[in-house]
Amino acid sequence: MIQYKQGVVFIIMIDLHCHSHFSDGLHSPADLVAKAINAGLVYFALTDHDSVSGYSECLKTIRPDSLCIIPGIELSTTWLSHDVHVLGLGIDIQNDALTALLHRQTSHRIARAREIGMSLESCGITDAYEHACGIAGHERIGRAHYAQLLIQKGYVSSIKAAFSRYLGRGKIAYRPSCWIDLAEAVAVIVEAGGQAVLAHPLKYKLTRLKLLSLLQTFKQAGGVGMEVVSGDMIWTDIHKMATLCQEFGLLASTGSDFHGTGLSRIGIGQQKTLPSTCEPISQIWTASSQKTFTETELLRAMS
Ligand code: AMP
Ligand code: MN
Ligand code: MN
Ligand code: MN
Repeated sequence: MIQYKQGVVFIIMIDLHCHSHFSDGLHSPADLVAKAINAGLVYFALTDHDSVSGYSECLKTIRPDSLCIIPGIELSTTWLSHDVHVLGLGIDIQNDALTALLHRQTSHRIARAREIGMSLESCGITDAYEHACGIAGHERIGRAHYAQLLIQKGYVSSIKAAFSRYLGRGKIAYRPSCWIDLAEAVAVIVEAGGQAVLAHPLKYKLTRLKLLSLLQTFKQAGGVGMEVVSGDMIWTDIHKMATLCQEFGLLASTGSDFHGTGLSRIGIGQQKTLPSTCEPISQIWTASSQKTFTETELLRAMS
């Protein structure tokens, strides 16, 4: 996000979407905070899938006053049989409704992971579920852990191939998820005092009409923001999302969706900047400091 003050350019560096090893990321929350400091971030949110377990570790880190850590989560939801991800930012991680919802999500996740494990056993991988638990180091097994298993066992050579051949929708080890309804997820985020943000709207590969319908449902449910910039999105898509964001009167969010070095194409805080036409969601939190940038750093951030 770029701000002009008395002729001086300020960039407020923000990353409101990333994952730790408490979900399907490779790094610890402490490592991620170190990376966030290194990237010069002012706002940073850890948004693990259906888990807030990493937040307390973020708070234990020694960090500059200029880094504001926003308590976050990425909830898996179902909307018209599509898996849709909703970020909860600024949530009370101890909220009862949220805690109850996360217990349900974990049960769904374990049941689905066991089913995926059985289908991979029929492909010849013995003890697939147990191996995936070993890779994850926790019980909230996701498809990304199975993707790593498929690579380790030599079935595929990349995460992408693991999804396109085994784990993606309609493939041999795909099992439909039974996530909470989109509107319920938004309601719980609101109840927990947070802001609901529609994550990476283009990842669902919806027709334009369906995307508009999703945004309408999301807004009616109480959603206040959408990700205009996510991961290594190209400028054309960013501008399309910025227009939609304005049309729906939503606040714009931005995040790398970082899962780990070697796993993600860009690092923490390295996503492109929000277009100046957007109203950034970070405006609802008070900046504890702003960082000035040299012209070279500015050009790199805008490239
Ligand atoms: P799950 O929550 O178990 O359904 O897994 C969703 C996660 O799998 C996403 O957050 C990504 O980390 C990963 N994922 C999904 N689709 C792909 C893909 N096509 N290529 C790489 N990773 C993917
Ligand atoms: Mn993930
Ligand atoms: Mn996601
Ligand atoms: Mn994510």
